[in-house]
This record gives sequence, C-alpha cells and structure tokens, in this order.
Amino acid sequence: MSDDSKTKYGVIIIGAGPAGYTAGIYSSRARHDTLILSGILPGGQLVNTTDVENYPGFENGIMGPDLMIIMRKQTERMGTKIIDDEVVKVDFKNKPFKVYTASTEYQADAVIIGTGANPRKLGVEGEQSFAGKGVSYCATCDGPFFRNLELVVVGGGDSAIEEATFLTKFATKVHLVHRRKELRASKIMQERAMNNSKIDFHWNSAVDKINGNEKVQQVILKDTQSNEKSTLDVGGVFVAIGHEPNTKLFQDQVELDNQGYIVLKNLTETSVPGVFAAGDVHDHRYRQAVTAAGYGCMAAIDVDKYLTENK
Ligand code: NAP
Repeated sequence: MSDDSKTKYGVIIIGAGPAGYTAGIYSSRARHDTLILSGILPGGQLVNTTDVENYPGFENGIMGPDLMIIMRKQTERMGTKIIDDEVVKVDFKNKPFKVYTASTEYQADAVIIGTGANPRKLGVEGEQSFAGKGVSYCATCDGPFFRNLELVVVGGGDSAIEEATFLTKFATKVHLVHRRKELRASKIMQERAMNNSKIDFHWNSAVDKINGNEKVQQVILKDTQSNEKSTLDVGGVFVAIGHEPNTKLFQDQVELDNQGYIVLKNLTETSVPGVFAAGDVHDHRYRQAVTAAGYGCMAAIDVDKYLTENK
C-alpha cells in the first residue's frame, strides 16, 4: 500500500520524462526505495509531441503522451513511488540530501536529476496554436512527417544548420531564417549547408507571424534592419534557437556550464558525490527520448554502485 506521509527514501528522482522513469525502473529493480517527484506536468517534452516513430519497441509508432503513460505505469509496477508535485528547493550541501516541495521536506541518500530542458520559443503569433500542426522543435523527431513540402528553419547555430541539412532529405526546399547576417554555427557545418542547393538563406530576418488553417501554410518574415515584411508559403516551421535546461533549482548546488547545463564527470556524476543527472538536463547534443532513457538507466546503475560503496 502506498504511504503518502513517508518522506525518507533511498533514492529521489527529480523529473518524470524518459530519463526519470527509466532511472526509476532500474533503481526499484535494484531494490532501492525510490521516489519520483514528477513536477506538475509529468511526462516531459514527449507530452507535447504527437507521433513518435523513433522510440524502439513500437512497430507502428506511438503518440508521445501514450508512451509516457506506459512508461509511468511500468515504473510504478516496478515499485517506484511517484508524487506529482513540484520541487521548489534542494539542499545537496548536507547528507541526507533534502528535496523540498511547497508542503514537504523529503530526504534521500542519493538523488538523480532528470528535469530536462525546454526548447526556446520564438514567442510569435501562431507559434503556440500551430505547435504539433506544422510547428516543431525537433527535426529528427518530426522531419519524416514533412515530405515534399517547403519548410522554414529558424536559427543560426549548429542545431539550426544541422536540422536544415537533415530536413533537405524530405523537403523540396528549406528556408533558413536567421536574425543576423552571420551564422553562429561551426564553419564546417555552414559550408555544408551553403553547398546544399535545397537550402535558401534569409539573412537579417525574423519570423513575425505563422499563418494557416488546420496546419501551417504561411510564414510572415520581417527584415530585422528595415522592418519590411515578406511572406513564404511553407508547410512547416522548425524552431532551432536553442534550449533552456531546467536547472534553476540547482544553480548554487551543483556545477553548471555557461549555458546552464549540468556538468558531469564519469557520464552521470554531478559535482556533488551522491547526486547524479540524466537526460536533456546535461545533454545538449543528442536530446532524444531514447538517449535520455539510456542516461536514466546509466544514472540508476551508478547510484546503485554509489549506495553499495557508501553504506
Ligand atoms: P545556439 O548555439 O545557442 O544558437 C541559437 C541560435 O538561435 C543563434 O543563432 C541565435 O541567434 C538564434 N536565436 C536565439 N534566440 C533567438 C530568437 N528569440 N529569435 C531568433 N533567433 C534566435 O543553440 P544550438 O544551435 O541549439 O546549439 C546549442 C549547443 O549545442 C551549441 O554549443 C552547439 O555547438 C551544440 N550543437 C552541436 C552540434 C554538432 O556539433 N553537431 C549540433 C547541434 C548543437 P544569434 O546567433 O544572433 O545569437
């Protein structure tokens, strides 16, 4: 029987995306008393996704929210306690570690941070209403749904260039929209994109508005110098202007890099022994559900080793 008044656990996992749930499965199967504090909207970024075709095990794909419900049920079946509450403070300076929600202080011998990251938003009209209906934040995930269409990619960093190049496999043309006249991306990736005849560059340009009916049909661009407007008839908009890791809570607790991602050593260990991290909260390179799940598994195995050695 579950006991909601219990506050002391062997392992607390903060976050309930693929990293957190997988860590829960492995931690519980290793017989650690495990709690997941999921946040208010459990499931992570996949909850805002439609079809997921690249998570193995689902021959015909699966809807993102359905995948996360299955992961949650599997995690609970393994014995992990899940509480849908938001962590508001942590104290990793003393042991046992303390993790606070607005109402409760929890304690744990080890913690896994799996709070993920959110794609940065453009904040323009139509972006939110067409999310999942032509507006995407992940070309690897959604590219194959955009065959034989003209597409817009927004951004000038490595992600935008990589996504634009990837999308040329499916699109008839990719319009790369960047707010300045120089790319931030590495030279080699720039060269590759510039030599790709399917990519058109729109310099000093910003997306002003996204229009459509059921799905995206048109993007209104604004020249960032002259404010002049123009239109592009496209079937999709890929926003690749960076991610924001959810690490505000951990700022003065574990080492972060200059972009706010958790710095790890030995793959899953943070700067505090006993505190581990998994998934997009430290990984700005792969950012896939399956890699986050893999990191969750690794962190739980490392926690098991840590707890065994520090009994
Ligand atoms: P990033 O390097 O921070 O680039 C973000 C881009 O989006 C910049 O060009 C920026 O413009 C633009 N931008 C930011 N906010 C904007 C806004 N509100 N409206 C319009 N444009 C906006 O992010 P990233 O490309 O996601 O890369 C993140 C990190 O991962 C980097 O270190 C990158 O090198 C690495 N990465 C590496 C690879 C690879 O090696 N294969 C692939 C992907 C990512 P400005 O240039 O004007 O600031």
